[in-house]
Amino acid sequence: MQLAIDAATAERLAGVRRLGAARIRPLGLEADRLGRPVPPDDPYFQTLLELGLGRTRWSPESSSWKSQKELEVGASRLTLLLAEEQSYWDRGVAVAAPGPGLGEPPLLSMGTDEQRRRFLGPFVAPDRPRWGSFAMTEPGAGSDVAAIRARARKDGGDWVLDGEKSFAANASRADWIVVWATVDPALGRGGHRAFVVEQGTPGLGDFKIEKKMGLKAYESTSFTLRECRVPAANLIGGEGTYAARAGFKGALQSFNATRPLIAAMAVGIGRAALDASLAFAREHERLADPRVRDRLERGARKLRMARLLALRAAWLADHQRPNLTEASMAKAVAPLVAYEVASLGMELLGAVGGRGDHLIEKLFRDVKAMDIVEGTGQIQRIVMARQLVNLPREVGGA
Ligand SMILES: Cc1cc2nc3c(=O)[nH]c(=O)nc-3n(C[C@H](O)[C@H](O)[C@H](O)COP(=O)(O)OP(=O)(O)OC[C@H]3O[C@@H](n4cnc5c(N)ncnc54)[C@H](O)[C@@H]3O)c2cc1C
Repeated sequence: MQLAIDAATAERLAGVRRLGAARIRPLGLEADRLGRPVPPDDPYFQTLLELGLGRTRWSPESSSWKSQKELEVGASRLTLLLAEEQSYWDRGVAVAAPGPGLGEPPLLSMGTDEQRRRFLGPFVAPDRPRWGSFAMTEPGAGSDVAAIRARARKDGGDWVLDGEKSFAANASRADWIVVWATVDPALGRGGHRAFVVEQGTPGLGDFKIEKKMGLKAYESTSFTLRECRVPAANLIGGEGTYAARAGFKGALQSFNATRPLIAAMAVGIGRAALDASLAFAREHERLADPRVRDRLERGARKLRMARLLALRAAWLADHQRPNLTEASMAKAVAPLVAYEVASLGMELLGAVGGRGDHLIEKLFRDVKAMDIVEGTGQIQRIVMARQLVNLPREVGGA
């Protein structure tokens, strides 16, 4: 799919492509075969650091995050294009890459300068692969984020956290985890607080890597908090931030940045499925059949449409403009399109797909989660429908 891009972006994409063929795809296939995430000490992660990756977007030179964002016009679009390309080679390996991950947006949008320095500072020029993590989901609270039950209790100068979290990416290897908890479930979203819980804090433990149908190269991890004591300085933004349900709004603002990214990743997986389907159809002399060509063309066309939706949402973010509907639209559309393309690939494969050792079959398993993470497709459609009729935003989903 052609796209007008400048020379610097083209060079960075070419770099990802080289890395993708040589390292990302083979690592993803190996993790899938072995059914375990890429280990944190894999030399690939060190290679990424040497290439200048695995870093934070935050810079210690900027006086505030807002002023830095104003200097960074184009950053969201570039992040999106790189994420799409990495996911083309393997989305699981892309998420396994070191960096502050989904823990970064709440620190950027809600954190104090001091907290950014403390928690994002080590990611400016990391001395070793480092990870951050984000834990909203609980066994009983996914789409309905207001239902989280992890409790936060103030005790002197500390906060004490108790509860269970599930499916948090890279949690067991992370330096810290952004944990969402409630001071009082009866307050609904008004009770939400976000804390940075550092690895090794007493009471943080029971890490268990979940079994997944796809995307096996990165860990999705459950863990518990038992009388887990964190200093007041780790409450993101400080107590004043949480007036007027700002905690919940902060979480939702993060989604406006991350949902277009998930859409771009889905487009990457879909492109990989399309290319593999084209190669299989060519090899098995199926391209002479107009029905096969028609379906392949439909997949290519829909992937391009999905990519444009994601880029539109990123463009709005880059220009400091509201993108709630566009972010949800991209997230609602792209995973389904990628799923459709991977399904077509499975149909073309026929019995070969049933053997479970073809790239398309892996992509078919990988793509399913893209409709689930960062708010399911249903949740995105609820968000858009509420926007359409001017109702306030009320639903989330990590
Ligand atoms: C691979 C993977 C990685 C993940 N990574 C993270 C992470 O890093 N951090 C994190 O915090 N979480 C993470 N999650 C969790 C993810 O955010 C949740 O799975 C998601 O929000 C859905 O929640 P649930 O699984 O509890 O499903 P539920 O909320 O129980 O939903 C089940 C079904 O019901 C539908 N549904 C729910 N509510 C409504 C409604 N009001 N109207 C219509 N339909 C509805 C949903 O769309 C879905 O189809 C991850 C999940 C996966 C699979």
